[in-house]
Amino acid sequence: MPEYVNILFHGIGEPKRELEFGEDHYWITEDTFEAILNEVASWPHVSLSFDDSNSSDVEIALPALLERGLTAEFFVLAGRLGQRGSLGEADLHDLVKNGMPVGNHGMWHHPWRGMSDATTHEELAEARDRIAAAIGQPVTRAACPLGRYDRTTLTALRRLGYTAVFTSDRRPAKPGRWLQPRFSVYRHDTPETVRAAVDRSRGIPSRLRNTAAGVVKRWR
Ligand SMILES: [Zn+2]
Repeated sequence: MPEYVNILFHGIGEPKRELEFGEDHYWITEDTFEAILNEVASWPHVSLSFDDSNSSDVEIALPALLERGLTAEFFVLAGRLGQRGSLGEADLHDLVKNGMPVGNHGMWHHPWRGMSDATTHEELAEARDRIAAAIGQPVTRAACPLGRYDRTTLTALRRLGYTAVFTSDRRPAKPGRWLQPRFSVYRHDTPETVRAAVDRSRGIPSRLRNTAAGVVKRWR
C-alpha cells in the first residue's frame, strides 16, 4: 500500500505580527514556499495543511494553491481572528469559498497537554465554535498547537466529535486514520531536504523508531 504524507506549512514571507519564541524556525520565504510546493505537489499521495492562521495564508498560499489547482486545509487560531498579521473572518470566507477546508488550531496557541477542564473546553470547544460561527459551517477537524498532545486531550477531542486530529509527528500517514501525523517545513528546508526527511522516515529502522516515539507520546 502506498504511504501517504501530510506536509505542514506555517508562515510565509515577512511576519506581520510579533512571533512567539522560536517560531521563526517555521517561517519560510516566498521563493522557498513555491519551490517546496512544486516539489510536494508532484508526489502521488500528499496532503497539505497550514497552521496558525497567518495572513500569509490568504496573501501568498491561497493564490499559489489555486494557480496549481491544489487544495490545502487551514487550521485557525480562534483567539487571533482579525488581529494584525492573522486571518480575519473575511479571509476565512475566502478560504472556504475557494474549496479550502478550515479546522481548529485552538484559541491561544497553548500546547494541548496537561490542560485543565476549563482550558480544554476553551481550546477544543469554544475555539471550534467561534471558527464555525465565522465560516457558517461545522468544524470537525483539529491540529494540535506545537504538535503537543496527551491521552486526556485525545479523549476530549473524541468526546467532542472531532473526525480527525493532526499532529507534527514526522512520519507517513494512513488515509482515513483519526490521528494524522505531519511533516513540518522548517526555515532552512529546500525541496531536497523535505524529500529526504520523508524518504528517511520510510526506511524501516527510522520508521519503527518514529512509531515507537509516537506511541509513547500519545499515551503519556
Ligand atoms: Zn501552531
